[in-house]
Amino acid sequence: MITSLLIANRGEIACRIIRTARDMGIRTVAVYSDADAKALHVRQADEAVHIGASPARESYLVGEKIIAAALATKAEAIHPGYGFLSENAEFAQAVIDAGLIWVGPRPASITAMGLKDAAKTLMAAAGVPVTPGYMGENQDPAFLAERADEIGYPVLIKAVAGGGGKGMRKVDAAADFADSLASCQREATASFGNAHVLIEKYIQRPRHIEVQVFGDTHGNIVHLFERDCSLQRRHQKVIEEAPAPGMDEATREQLCAAAVKAAKAVDYVGAGTIEFIADASEGLRADRIWFMEMNTRLQVEHPVTEEITGVDLVEWQLRVASGEPLPKRQDELSINGWAMEARLYAEDPAKGFLPSIGRLEFFELDGSVRIDTGVYQGSDVSPFYDPMIAKMIAHDRDREEAMQSLAWALNDSKIWPVKNNAAFLINALEHPDFASGNVDTGLLQRAGDALIPDEAIIGDDLARSAEQYTNQPIAGFRLNRERNQKAILSVNGVATVIEIPIFDYVDPRPFVFSQEPPTGFFQTGNGQTWWIEPYRYIGGAHAGAHDGDILSPMPGRIIAVEVTAGQAVTKGQKLLTLEAMKMEHTLTAPFDGTVAELNAVAGAQVQVEALLVRIEAAE
Ligand code: ADP
Repeated sequence: MITSLLIANRGEIACRIIRTARDMGIRTVAVYSDADAKALHVRQADEAVHIGASPARESYLVGEKIIAAALATKAEAIHPGYGFLSENAEFAQAVIDAGLIWVGPRPASITAMGLKDAAKTLMAAAGVPVTPGYMGENQDPAFLAERADEIGYPVLIKAVAGGGGKGMRKVDAAADFADSLASCQREATASFGNAHVLIEKYIQRPRHIEVQVFGDTHGNIVHLFERDCSLQRRHQKVIEEAPAPGMDEATREQLCAAAVKAAKAVDYVGAGTIEFIADASEGLRADRIWFMEMNTRLQVEHPVTEEITGVDLVEWQLRVASGEPLPKRQDELSINGWAMEARLYAEDPAKGFLPSIGRLEFFELDGSVRIDTGVYQGSDVSPFYDPMIAKMIAHDRDREEAMQSLAWALNDSKIWPVKNNAAFLINALEHPDFASGNVDTGLLQRAGDALIPDEAIIGDDLARSAEQYTNQPIAGFRLNRERNQKAILSVNGVATVIEIPIFDYVDPRPFVFSQEPPTGFFQTGNGQTWWIEPYRYIGGAHAGAHDGDILSPMPGRIIAVEVTAGQAVTKGQKLLTLEAMKMEHTLTAPFDGTVAELNAVAGAQVQVEALLVRIEAAE
């Protein structure tokens, strides 16, 4: 067994590999870029070597630096994780040539499966069903258009060197073929340096089903059943599960046998995945499932297979790389229950899923499910790498329970101020088609904006949590039972006036907030997290104040005024920015109306409760 291992990766997968290596008593060496100097994988490894600047092409993609780091630290083996250099046959060969052990398949297997056209040709020859299409050398546009006609529209043009959902064009009609081909080739050249394409039948109601395979150096190959990764956004996996919903035993047997045949055709060693595409318009049928491609590495979604089989796939990788035979025979492997994984991303669903970078001031995930993460509270999400911050994996008796456990755990996510997709994931899990297992790769696109979470916090929830936080009845001052129970709170830095439900307290009690930092608290729910600063209560003390009076919630300085007297404003429109307690606070219009009075001047100091703006409601 190897005794030391360098992990040529970062983030959650580096941490995942370190965990198993440590359990096996293997010394671990991390590599890191400038941006990752304080990253979790660096902290967890026994040793860490700095390999360059933050951009991956200056660090994680520089094979020589990684091999040099392994030699310098006397690591015996290199595990590439996924992404980066994991499917780079030249790097694998260089590792071997340096006298190190490569934790992965033979370089020749990587090459054989590297290009989609060559892989399909090889698979077809081995008797594995492949998606109908043209995968030859001739790249003449007119010739390719003829092939598309033969295949029948819609077709998919795919860059043979493509990956990560890039370099694909769906074409619905012959008239669009030439343009789509040109644009696909441009993207392929720019992204992969290879303009070569293949043409495939576009599968209707496609489901993405893949099979985990494993080979050793003694000629054994087994499969570890299937995963369903059909829930995708722009061809990228969002939620994965194992087994696949609707898969019967006979179909599973045929599918997994085809996967083993595919792995045997390339003499496969180590962990690999055979990806298939299924036409699920009439359920899953063995004669409607075709080979798509092989990934010659560990997959992001490998944990769902680990959960249902009880196998530690990283342990198997390390054993196989050390020359040991596979720990289990095919007949010793079976499916136990159901597992579901959600990919938690630092991204903003409300802004087109734009990556959200910055410090994770608050980061706590519900440990009732398995969590594979590469970040911690206080670490930075950098713009240099994939913004996935964690994977949450539920394992239960059946699909329904796994789905529920995952939704519950996501619901409890406490992440701030970095935006994330937890609430979106919950919405996706709760979509009726997903919940019933009636999923295909187009589901998320069809569901569209309906799954984008609403970020507005509900006043009642806020009042309730404010009450809990302060341990005080929020009814506070009450003068003559007037219904002016209001509080100004800052939600994620934006001041909000909320109505407080009226409770029947006899004694007027002040709503006390801590004056010392920390000045606020977190409110979480539905996978969202808000930072709440309950400035002060303006109930009875301002019985005479009008609804549209915008008072200064605390002493501070006006740093910007966004409106002028007489201007029409809409609810939520930014009125001015106040700097107080070293933070900027935005005050917004409580309803549609006009600016009836404007006392705020940029640069001016203001006292607490000073009337800054008065909004008169629109008729
Ligand atoms: P990549 O290497 O970029 O991941 P794949 O070939 O694995 O590309 O395809 C990615 C996704 O694109 C699949 O999971 C599936 O959703 C969709 N897809 C691929 N081929 C087809 C096809 N022939 N018909 C319909 N959808 C397809």
